Amino acid sequence: MGTLSNKSALVTGASRGIGRAIAVRLGREGALVGVHYGENEIAAKETVARIESDGGSAFAVRARLGVPGDVHELFRAFESGLKERTGESTFDILVNNAGATSLGTSPEDVTPEEFDELFAVNAKAPFFIVQRALTTIRDGGRIVNISSGLTRFAQADQVAYAMSKGAVEQLSLHFARHLAPRGITVNSVAPGITNNGQPVFDIPEAVAQMAEVSAFKKVGDAEDVAAVVAFAASPDARWVTGAFLDATGGTLLG
Ligand code: NAP
Repeated sequence: MGTLSNKSALVTGASRGIGRAIAVRLGREGALVGVHYGENEIAAKETVARIESDGGSAFAVRARLGVPGDVHELFRAFESGLKERTGESTFDILVNNAGATSLGTSPEDVTPEEFDELFAVNAKAPFFIVQRALTTIRDGGRIVNISSGLTRFAQADQVAYAMSKGAVEQLSLHFARHLAPRGITVNSVAPGITNNGQPVFDIPEAVAQMAEVSAFKKVGDAEDVAAVVAFAASPDARWVTGAFLDATGGTLLG
C-alpha cells in the first residue's frame, strides 16, 4: 500500500520533464493520476505507460492552457476519465506544474505578447484551475503549485517569467488561508535548474556551468523535485500549508 492509495490526482504538464516525474512518483505512491498535456500526446501516453508498468493507474488529459475555455476543457476531460475509473468526479491532489518558460529576454526587449503568454499559462491558468477544482477536490486534499527559485534569485533576462511565478506563490499563500477550514493544504514548490530532458542537458560543458549554482554542484533531476512534491501531496504534510518549499538544491543559499 502506497501513501496515496485510494487517492486521485491531476498533474498538469505531465507529458514531459518535472511533471512527468511527479506523475510517475504519485502513481507509484498509489494515486490514480490524470496526466495532463498540451500538445504532446505521444509523450503523455508514455507517462501513462510508465505509471502502468510500475503497477499504477493513469490516463491522459488534453487541454491547451492559456487560451479561452482552457479550464473547462481540462476538467471535462479529467472528470470524464475519473468517472470512468472510479464512478466519481471528486479527487484529492492537484499539482499545477505546466509552465511556459522563457529562453531569456533582456528586460528592454520583453514584448507585451511574451509577457501575456507567460502570465496566461503560469499565473492565470493555475488560478482558474484552483478555482474550478474547489467544487470537486475533497476535504483534506492537497494543492501544489510549481514556482521557481527565480522568485528569489535575480536574473534580469527572466524577469517576466519570474514575475509570473511570483503570482503563483501568492496563489498558494492566499488559498492556503481560504482552504484551511476544509483541511486542504496549498503549497509552492520551487525547483532550481532541473534536467527536464531538453537537449541542453546533454551538453557536458553546459551542465557543468549550470551545476555551479547549486550548493551540491549538481543539476537537479526531475525526480529530486518530484520527491518534494510527493511529500507536499502526502498525508504527512498535513501541518504544512502556505509554504514555499525550496527544491533548488541549495541554489538560494548564495
Ligand atoms: P517542460 O519540460 O518544458 O514541460 C512543460 C510541460 O507543460 C509539458 O508537459 C507541456 O505539455 C506543458 N505545457 C506547457 N505549456 C502548456 C500550455 N500552454 N498548455 C498546456 N500544457 C502546457 O517543463 P519543466 O522544465 O519540466 O518545468 C515544469 C515546471 O517547473 C514549470 O512550471 C517550470 O516553470 C518549472 N521550473 C522548471 C525548472 C527547470 O529547470 N526545468 C526550474 C524552475 C521551475 P506539452 O509538451 O504536451 O504541450
